[in-house]
Amino acid sequence: MYDAVIVGGGLAGLSAAHRLRHRNILLLEKDDRFGGRIRSERRGPYWLNWGGHVYNGPGTATGDLMAAVGIESTPVPGSLAGLAMNGRLLTKGRVETYPFRVPMSWSDRAALLKAGAKVRLAVLKYAKVSAPRDGEDYRVRQQRIYDFLGDRTFAEYVGELPHDADALFRPTVSRSAGDPEQVSAGAGVGYFHLVWNKTGGLTRNIVGGPSTLTETIGAGLGDAGRLGAEVHEVVHGKDHVVVRYRHLGVEHEVKARHVVLATTAPVTARIAPDLDDDVRDALGRIEYGPYVAAAFLTNETGRQVWDDSYAIATPKRAFNVFFNMSNIVRAAEQTRGQGSSIMAFSPARLARPLIEQSDAKILDAYYRDLDDLFPGFSGLVEEAHVQRWHHGLAYCFPGRGRLQAALTRRNSRIRLAGDYLGTWYTETAVQTGFAAAQDILSALAVPGGRLQAVEAPSLIGANHG
Ligand SMILES: Cc1cc2nc3c(=O)[nH]c(=O)nc-3n(C[C@H](O)[C@H](O)[C@H](O)COP(=O)(O)OP(=O)(O)OC[C@H]3O[C@@H](n4cnc5c(N)ncnc54)[C@H](O)[C@@H]3O)c2cc1C
Repeated sequence: MYDAVIVGGGLAGLSAAHRLRHRNILLLEKDDRFGGRIRSERRGPYWLNWGGHVYNGPGTATGDLMAAVGIESTPVPGSLAGLAMNGRLLTKGRVETYPFRVPMSWSDRAALLKAGAKVRLAVLKYAKVSAPRDGEDYRVRQQRIYDFLGDRTFAEYVGELPHDADALFRPTVSRSAGDPEQVSAGAGVGYFHLVWNKTGGLTRNIVGGPSTLTETIGAGLGDAGRLGAEVHEVVHGKDHVVVRYRHLGVEHEVKARHVVLATTAPVTARIAPDLDDDVRDALGRIEYGPYVAAAFLTNETGRQVWDDSYAIATPKRAFNVFFNMSNIVRAAEQTRGQGSSIMAFSPARLARPLIEQSDAKILDAYYRDLDDLFPGFSGLVEEAHVQRWHHGLAYCFPGRGRLQAALTRRNSRIRLAGDYLGTWYTETAVQTGFAAAQDILSALAVPGGRLQAVEAPSLIGANHG
């Protein structure tokens, strides 16, 4: 019998497995690679990227994981808040000046300034509410964040906006994979906090690409990490858990004292039929939005307008952000090397019309806009690849905080982990993986390995809005 079986080799499952690596464990991953929604591939000095790319740094769970694995992150150089809109490219200067620098009508500008002031104030409040407090468990902080402006959508909060004003807000909010009409006001405000706050949060890259982290952990698992192993049932036994999976066409059944389900909410609900009813109900209510992403390797020899930027928002285009994944390489060069690695992505309502299209059609739509923004771009491309993420991200919708108590209860041999359990993306994946591993380690340290029923710390009902 295994001490623990971990289902899912994304960042959450790998974080749990890394913490449990001195125990008798097995990690089962259905794909032929580790990483899940972290996916990058090396190309010479660059890496192509299709998924998560900016990480948290030292002083966070992600920072702890990187230190334990022996991987360093570097602050992302260049601007994270560029804007290309209505024929103007802005890569420098404060975002508050954008409404005056982008051509638009005075009525749109006035609406934008009014809504912008409201969101700025809310971002200040969000910063206070979301700041960690001494000695506080991250789950208490997480609940506080869910409850902040958690009862209405972002669109309801800012009110109806004229076309250009709406176009400027939308790309930032919809990076959560939900549209402003779906995402809670607090989560929308939180996204502006993330983008405007260059000192904390998701602002670090790994030289070599984001998959360096997941691949390194996966490789370190050796035989304890099994690729191509799709789990289809996880059920409680008397004093253990039974895990059934298919590997290379062969059915397997293993027993474990504990299981970490580090799969997305719909998969978790499907493969674990005997979870408590309220947990299954909460899993079923988690809402995901789609993403389409494309990675481009270019071969230019001279300087490009994107060289000093990391992220440029691109309202009114087929994709809503243009990322220069190569600017970390640029920052370390004496003379500009050849080529760039670019990622563009389309979340939420931009993704829906694209996701069922062929790669060629998706690339055509992207090239039309890339060539318009950066004339001649398509002529520089040596390689281009598309990735579809049907469950790109679980976005935070009004009322989401009320599901948290069921999802984080710790009274079973089956523990949940994954980014859908919080609002910090990769950081939540690592936190929940670590938390699951910690519970299991402490249970295994008790003779018999029984878990006590422990209610998750909670601030349910507290409204900080
Ligand atoms: C385009 C894009 C850009 C993003 N950018 C960022 C960013 O810059 N910063 C950031 O912090 N976050 C970002 N994210 C989010 C980030 O990638 C995720 O939060 C994080 O990777 C989720 O990790 P996870 O382990 O919770 O889930 P996943 O990565 O989805 O892992 C789940 C794993 O379970 C496996 N699995 C599924 N079913 C089974 C089964 N039946 N049996 C066995 N295995 C199974 C899957 O193959 C997968 O490997 C981005 C996401 C997308 C899509």
